[in-house]
Amino acid sequence: MKIENPNPIQWRFSERATQLQSSFIREILKITQQPEIISFAGGLPSPATFPVDVMKEAFDKVLTDSGKVALQYGPTDGYLPLRQWIADRLSEGGAKIVPEQVLMVSGSQQALDLLGKVLIDEGSKVLVETPSYLGALQAFSVYRPEFVSVQTDDHGLVPESLDNVAQGARLLYALPNFQNPTGRTLSLERRQQLVETCARLGLPLIEDDPYGALSYKGAPLPKMVAMNPDGVIYMGSFSKVLTPGIRLGYVVAPLGLIRRLELAKQASDLHTSQLTQMVVHHVVKDGFLDQHIPTIRQLYGDQCQVMLDAMDQHFPQAVTWTRPEGGMFIWVTLPKHIDAMALLDEAIKHKVAFVPGSPFYANSPETHTLRLSFVTVPPERIRAGIEILGKLIASKL
Ligand code: PMP
Repeated sequence: MKIENPNPIQWRFSERATQLQSSFIREILKITQQPEIISFAGGLPSPATFPVDVMKEAFDKVLTDSGKVALQYGPTDGYLPLRQWIADRLSEGGAKIVPEQVLMVSGSQQALDLLGKVLIDEGSKVLVETPSYLGALQAFSVYRPEFVSVQTDDHGLVPESLDNVAQGARLLYALPNFQNPTGRTLSLERRQQLVETCARLGLPLIEDDPYGALSYKGAPLPKMVAMNPDGVIYMGSFSKVLTPGIRLGYVVAPLGLIRRLELAKQASDLHTSQLTQMVVHHVVKDGFLDQHIPTIRQLYGDQCQVMLDAMDQHFPQAVTWTRPEGGMFIWVTLPKHIDAMALLDEAIKHKVAFVPGSPFYANSPETHTLRLSFVTVPPERIRAGIEILGKLIASKL
């Protein structure tokens, strides 16, 4: 029997819900996923790197050997052998990280939400890089902080600038390796300076590091969490080194904070899939990543170089860009009068797409910036797309 509604149902959204904003990138992905468009807009890892057969075999093995456990509810903090593996890996840098400090999450994006829930009140001052990861701005925004943009230069975040803005702040959110969106890396000296400054100011530092393993040139720089495990919250992810579809990440923090995050996670989704965690543990425990990650680095490094070469050839002199040493992104700065949003409209008409830079700024967007990703586009299409983009930019000078 169907019940009629004699009165209209009163849907009253929370104030929080009325302020939710769609991620600009997810919106433009709808357009740019059309196959005829050469899209430098995606932030997606290359599916060519997904170890489908290895995952298939691992799912089969886990379900055969431990199906009843894998398909049961699991503990909120996560599957202990995997947490142990993560703690051991992070301890290789010299710091002693214990599994109790590791909370498994459903993609590191969930860690951003949980950190917001646990550390941010309405109006809390939250320090972010200029520009910063859009998904973090979106996750934190739900808790209505006052974002304060911290100065950055060609070498990333400027530690000296913190003293002027850190008064009363709840946290600093930083991306030291191959930053999303700029591709910049924070030097060893700056990492030390930053950790020291935060320690002196008593300021919690979040180190978001999904791209850290994807270095094209030499060994990755030391992690900031290894320099001060009592003051740094570390976020890691299997999305860029294995596959993003399994939604598996982790957050490492001092025990008091981990307990709060665990409670917040309990309320949110009880726990992250036990099956997925057991499968990933099965895949990584014997060193699979040590042979797999170099193949990702090779592919991304080669494609990055193709894009940089094409930019050298086709972009006008007045344009500048970053030269990343790892990760997935190049950041472009156009002459000030060129609006990247308007440029995108035209570029799409010419079947090329990118992400305008404005959404990555918490305050005062620089409208003449844009982000390019080279990881999912084959070399010949990278060259063709950059040539088109170069001509379009030149036509605006
Ligand atoms: N942090 C940064 C800087 C990212 O770029 C991303 C993914 N684009 C995430 C966190 C979230 O990653 P995931 O939830 O897939 O672990």
